[in-house]
Amino acid sequence: MAYKVTLIPGDGCGPEVIAAAKRVVEATGVAIAWEQAEAGAAMIEKYGTPLPEETIASIRRNGVALKGPVTTPVGTGFRSVNVAMRKTFDLYANVRPAKTYPGVITKFDHIDLVVVRENTEDLYAGIEHMVGEDAAESIKLMTRKGCERIIRYAFEFAMREGRKKVTAVHKANIMKCTDGMFLNIAREIAKEYPQIAFDDSIVDAMCMRLVMHPEDYDVLVCPNLYGDIVSDLCAGLVGGLGLTPSANIGVEGAIFEPIHGSAPDIAGQNKINPTAAILSAVLMLAHLGEAKAAENIEQAVMKVISEGKTLTQDMGGVASTEEFTDAVIAALA
Ligand code: NAD
Repeated sequence: MAYKVTLIPGDGCGPEVIAAAKRVVEATGVAIAWEQAEAGAAMIEKYGTPLPEETIASIRRNGVALKGPVTTPVGTGFRSVNVAMRKTFDLYANVRPAKTYPGVITKFDHIDLVVVRENTEDLYAGIEHMVGEDAAESIKLMTRKGCERIIRYAFEFAMREGRKKVTAVHKANIMKCTDGMFLNIAREIAKEYPQIAFDDSIVDAMCMRLVMHPEDYDVLVCPNLYGDIVSDLCAGLVGGLGLTPSANIGVEGAIFEPIHGSAPDIAGQNKINPTAAILSAVLMLAHLGEAKAAENIEQAVMKVISEGKTLTQDMGGVASTEEFTDAVIAALA
């Protein structure tokens, strides 16, 4: 029987990277009945919202979605479709692996870390308003339940994946209530997992340490905003946004997507690196229980990148999105 998966191409470079990921998944022979759904600015005229009810219903029905990036207007306009989806489905865990692949030019080798980011609370929830005309206020709301479940998720993830250490990232020296609660809960939960080493770091020092000694880190558990920033930093450490996938996991659903945005500067030119989207599909296949197909695709991606003959421009090559995708498909076992 085919798995039912909602496919959201998104906009900008989204349709290109999602088409690439879909082709690669189909080439493994795993049977998937894709249900295409739309999201983004172009939907506003038709449905009056960037996130149509039909799209929400499809994700609810299928429980799994593969999604491309969606453009969000900066500083004005409608609120992020991504934030809305995460809230609608309570996708509280945003898992963002960052791994060096031989063949990608980076300052460090052997980076293999995972950012586990809380995905529904904190400043990133965007609870803000103007105070008169000349001031603005944003509310950093974090709950015990929200902290507990993401920290427990990070430790359970570490156990499941054979990881050795969890580091809690915070700014508890300044934000003693919100980040202080996050850190205290992390310290308590860590005691339940004596097999996993635990430490913590203030987010600013964490950024410095990551660019100096990334090999010291394994699983980083972060409140929403720090997780967003630190995971892009980690993407930079392993070769850029074109390479880093993500999973948004909740109790009732999971959405897999590259961490990069709609890349308006190169969208539609057959230049975009589809690796992040392909590796997001790898995470999706693993989530569906198709570990063999997931491993097959990751190995094929590694082979193509390490051979260095068919690389997109961001990786130092001249290949188009489609040529790179063809090479990955040809490299499947
Ligand atoms: P971006 O990630 O789109 O692009 C940043 C830079 O990285 C650009 O130079 C781009 O060309 C490059 N880049 C990104 N992905 C690449 C890839 N796969 N291959 C090669 N180069 C790649 O970030 P931005 O420009 O800040 O954001 C553009 C839009 O995307 C904004 O509207 C933003 O809100 C949105 N966004 C959406 C998501 C999402 O849907 N999950 C995530 C981040 C940003």
